[in-house]
Amino acid sequence: MIPKHFSCLSTGDYWPYLTSFKNAPSPLSQGLRHVWGHRFPGSALYPTPTGRHALWYFLETLEFQGGDEVLIAAYNFYIIVRILLQKGLKPVFVDVDPETLCMDPADLTNKVSKKSRLVVVTHMFGNPANMVEIETICQQNDLWLFEDCAHAVGTLCNQEQVGQSGDGALFSFGIQKLVNSFGGGMLVLSENLAPKFELPPHSIPKLASFSDTFMRALTSILMTPSLYGITLHQLQKAINRFEDRLPKIKAIIDPAKDNPEYRFYNLERAPYKSFMTEMHRLQLARLNENINRRREIVMTIKHELQDIADISVLYEDKYGHSNYSYFGIYVPDPHALSHFLAQNGIDSCSQEYYDCASLEQFSSFYSKCENAHYASHHILRLPSYPCLRDSEVEKIFKTIKLWFTNHVC
Ligand SMILES: *Cc1c(COP(=O)(O)O)cnc(C)c1O
Repeated sequence: MIPKHFSCLSTGDYWPYLTSFKNAPSPLSQGLRHVWGHRFPGSALYPTPTGRHALWYFLETLEFQGGDEVLIAAYNFYIIVRILLQKGLKPVFVDVDPETLCMDPADLTNKVSKKSRLVVVTHMFGNPANMVEIETICQQNDLWLFEDCAHAVGTLCNQEQVGQSGDGALFSFGIQKLVNSFGGGMLVLSENLAPKFELPPHSIPKLASFSDTFMRALTSILMTPSLYGITLHQLQKAINRFEDRLPKIKAIIDPAKDNPEYRFYNLERAPYKSFMTEMHRLQLARLNENINRRREIVMTIKHELQDIADISVLYEDKYGHSNYSYFGIYVPDPHALSHFLAQNGIDSCSQEYYDCASLEQFSSFYSKCENAHYASHHILRLPSYPCLRDSEVEKIFKTIKLWFTNHVC
């Protein structure tokens, strides 16, 4: 089975984690600056337990009033919207550019009101959003700007790492992300906000902290493609059967995509640990090489599929340089094609994100976002990880071609 995601970690990448049990931990924030600092010359960096913690802390540094509005792209990870609601903020959904899946500045302008305070931009799939226009709109309307860079390590706008256009940004180092340190996140703050901010202490019981990180390390090992067919896939099948008994593992491998019960709980995750920074250092050393390989894979598959009229593709580099961390194409029926790919040994995702504006749980904030709605029903996410072999890339496009030969619309 070709998984839809693999961090391409080698044995050496696990070393910082394995040796962290005997070495004394090093000071945290200093380490982050050392490894990440040159990408963020003018910003302050803080280690956080997860990416969503970074958003939570960011929201806590600002002063809001009841009814304040936050503009956010409708095609999105529902958790971000839930966090806004939990903070008493009102989400206002903005449509996306169908070529990048990121916030459309024209619709942002339409939706700005007197109550707007903050814009949350996601560099969806690692594709840079149109930051030039979004920044201008924020300045003209006196809005704070926060960037969700969970997919966007190595994504560039104006040749610069994204995450430094506005007041803050989040990064995530979970097991499904481009840089994987078995959890952990990073808050980026602008020079103006940093003096007002103090990183809250975070501690949970030792055993809980150990097992939270350990489960993620273990899952990463199980996601190695050579093991994938026999382990994770079967594990996932078994887990789906015993969902109620194994909610924790299930939540790591296959997190919920639309859970109205979700509440952010500060202490449910292990703190950021210093071995994580060392893992980042190892993975960042080959970031450019990996992004180039991802681009090559995406370009090859797009090129091979260009004659299929029923497929349309994204324009990932429209506003900068994408890192291609996720690779999506538009197809008429992503669920049917995903099922066919699975039968042929290729994992894919037919429902990466939803149009949050149309979700039942956010129905009181409904607004019509046609492009987000279309993406939610038609985007199919395919594997694009850098250690995919050429023969596997070929298998992916050939299997898709086969499907369309048999299903001419
Ligand atoms: C993963 C992710 C996050 C949050 O990251 P965590 O570390 O899981 O909290 C935020 N936004 C998007 C788009 C993500 O994919």
